[in-house]
Amino acid sequence: MNINLTQNRNLKLFKLISTIAQNNGQSVYIVGGYVRDLLLNRSAPTDIDFVTEGNGMSLAKAVAQQIEPSPKVSLFKNYGTAMFKHKGLDLEFVGARKESYAEHSRNPLVENGTLEDDQKRRDFTVNALAISLNQENFGDLIDPFNGLQDLQHKILRTPLEPSQTYSDDPLRMMRAIRFASTLNFKIEENSLAAIKKEVERIRIVSMERIMVEFNKIMLSERPSLGLKLMEETGILHLVIPELTALKGIEEVDGQTHKDNFWHTLEVVDNISQNTENLWLRWAALLHDIGKAPTKKFVEGSGWTFHGHEFLGSKMVKNLFHRLKLPLGTDMKYVQKLVKLSSRPIALIDDGTSDSALRRLLFDAGEDLEDLFILNKADITTKNSSKQTKFKKNFEYVALKIKEVEEKDHVRNFQPPISGEEIMAMFGLKPGREIGILKEKVKEAILEGEIGNDKDEARNFVIKEGETLGLILS
Ligand code: ATP
Ligand code: MG
Repeated sequence: MNINLTQNRNLKLFKLISTIAQNNGQSVYIVGGYVRDLLLNRSAPTDIDFVTEGNGMSLAKAVAQQIEPSPKVSLFKNYGTAMFKHKGLDLEFVGARKESYAEHSRNPLVENGTLEDDQKRRDFTVNALAISLNQENFGDLIDPFNGLQDLQHKILRTPLEPSQTYSDDPLRMMRAIRFASTLNFKIEENSLAAIKKEVERIRIVSMERIMVEFNKIMLSERPSLGLKLMEETGILHLVIPELTALKGIEEVDGQTHKDNFWHTLEVVDNISQNTENLWLRWAALLHDIGKAPTKKFVEGSGWTFHGHEFLGSKMVKNLFHRLKLPLGTDMKYVQKLVKLSSRPIALIDDGTSDSALRRLLFDAGEDLEDLFILNKADITTKNSSKQTKFKKNFEYVALKIKEVEEKDHVRNFQPPISGEEIMAMFGLKPGREIGILKEKVKEAILEGEIGNDKDEARNFVIKEGETLGLILS
């Protein structure tokens, strides 16, 4: 089959590479993800891989010199690859190679090989497709493993024996699941069995690499596709056991609770329809993790998960640490949403008092909308009258909060009176009293005793100062 590249936006680049390779006496092909996505008509690529029977580094340099005013080519000698950026694309060149693996490492021993050797070492048949850029057969699809057929049938199959393929480089297990999730492909039966068999090998892969794939799963249209496969193969239990601990339904005295694992997957899929924010999706994934360690059957009240949001938000930190995820603002954001995840709904049961609404506004601050997106996604009941009731309750809370916000402006709360002002009022130096008074002002505003207003706050501080024995200066 010939792929018509005449309309391709990179045609000029491909022609140039073709000519340079021809002059050097080496063959060259486009290979891997770019070919796959081109045939799938998928969105704009970020990288293009070229493979040459010959020296990849010198080809990269020669091409870069022709198209970049001051070319910066990065060389990875160990892998025989060279890369440079061109018009926002990563162009990567590799000399065709043969690989063999040692038991303890996912870094192979490498020797020069043919195009077919190079296609064999690739993870899936749909990633092993190559398009010739050579003048005698420009545009021809080179497909020794029937990758095109697998692409049409949406199947992920390894070119070589699957157990060996996954054992050699266990990251491929995560890649299989990632592609299954992002492309909505099936992992071929023997491959799936091989992943289950080799699953323990995932331990030799660095957590950072596992998380790169995991986050791509989290960003796919339906992350549950990948999460289910991770669960089914046993990878999830090895990487995030806190999630698999949510699995299962227990019964005492005829009373059951929902399976919080499957519930979580539904919440993640729901939220993914409403946000591309990776960390909000993570908050959905982790919103119930405190439920496994807090689960209790209490005579009279049934199943309880008392304080699961607090424990859950504490667990987030350890989890992020272990998973080598960023520990800064993103982690704190996830913690905050997990901690607040039940608050809006709890307001219904406690009556929506203004002070409770103000406190939620104050605690959620600029993340209130995201908290609402999470709460909406959290409604997974199949009982339609319950669903209607929950949605109504929730809309009521959202409306009440809006009213309070317009009235009191406590979101992104800025104290109406500053520490410096309080010190000036009483002629004080910085000290414990200032903190106490500031906290009292905040509490009084949230409780509705005084408005969020400078004069009211001043009068309040004078009164409170007196009880602390402070005298106005
Ligand atoms: P995307 O770029 O969309 O994430 P991709 O398939 O292009 O997907 P890359 O990581 O860019 O993935 O890798 C480029 C190509 O290199 C792949 O298509 C595949 O042929 C090969 N490849 C990448 N990682 C592996 C691996 N761990 N084992 C075998 N082949 C791999
Ligand atoms: Mg790629």
